[in-house]
Amino acid sequence: VVRAVGVHKWYGDVHALRGVDLDVPRGSVVCLLGPSGSGKSTLLRCINRLEVPTSGGVEIEDDCIGYKREPGRLRPCSSRRLAAQRRCTGMVFQQFNLFAHMTVLQNVMEGQTSGLGTPKAQARERAFELLDGVGLVDKADHYPGHISGGQQQRVAIARALASNPKVLLFDEPTSALDPELVGEVLAVMRSLAQEDVTMIVVTHEIEFAAEVATEVHFMCDGSIVESGNPRQVIDAPQQERTQYFLAHMR
Ligand code: ATP
Ligand code: MG
Repeated sequence: VVRAVGVHKWYGDVHALRGVDLDVPRGSVVCLLGPSGSGKSTLLRCINRLEVPTSGGVEIEDDCIGYKREPGRLRPCSSRRLAAQRRCTGMVFQQFNLFAHMTVLQNVMEGQTSGLGTPKAQARERAFELLDGVGLVDKADHYPGHISGGQQQRVAIARALASNPKVLLFDEPTSALDPELVGEVLAVMRSLAQEDVTMIVVTHEIEFAAEVATEVHFMCDGSIVESGNPRQVIDAPQQERTQYFLAHMR
């Protein structure tokens, strides 16, 4: 579904991504591991176009993000089309990023009503379905500040699903949580994986990656340096850098 091809990203003179290729088949759960500063967040942000790659590109299904296909060439597309392309991705951030002045229900409805133009009643119905999926129907009228971090993150997942994205992107979704709240968020992610939702997950939860990932990529210094199934990359890493990282993780 998602393919990154030769993505480079420069921030000033920092070369944050050095030609990353990534293939994410439909229904797969791809985990990105790697040390701080290796470019994991930058790669996610290039995929959902929070950042524009300096060179290279990202394809989601047949769309090349930011471009319109014309016979024999690609042309930069309109901002309206880019907005539609960006809705093919749903992002879940470390810090939840819910709208503090909106209730849980409004947070989940927002993207549908303002982004997709879905009628309110329909958006509301869908929001309740999604909240039911993450076990939070009873919190629908609460404000984010009045529920736990784990609950906020589950709302953020429901919100990310609301526009029916083709891929869900997670950037360290459990890193800001108290340890006792991590499990409930991972449980929701596990059940999405079982429903064959396509996901790209940046995480330091090695056990989660080992159990749920269909493929693991290890990033270092802006490149993917080792890829494979979790048995290969986590249990029998070939690269010294991967071995070193994993040895210091658990
Ligand atoms: P972490 O595990 O700490 O979240 P990461 O793997 O997500 O790290 P990135 O945040 O993608 O790493 O950063 C990759 C490199 O790009 C780092 O050297 C970082 O300092 C740099 N970088 C990231 N964002 C910016 C920015 N907006 N402006 C300048 N440099 C940036
Ligand atoms: Mg990061």
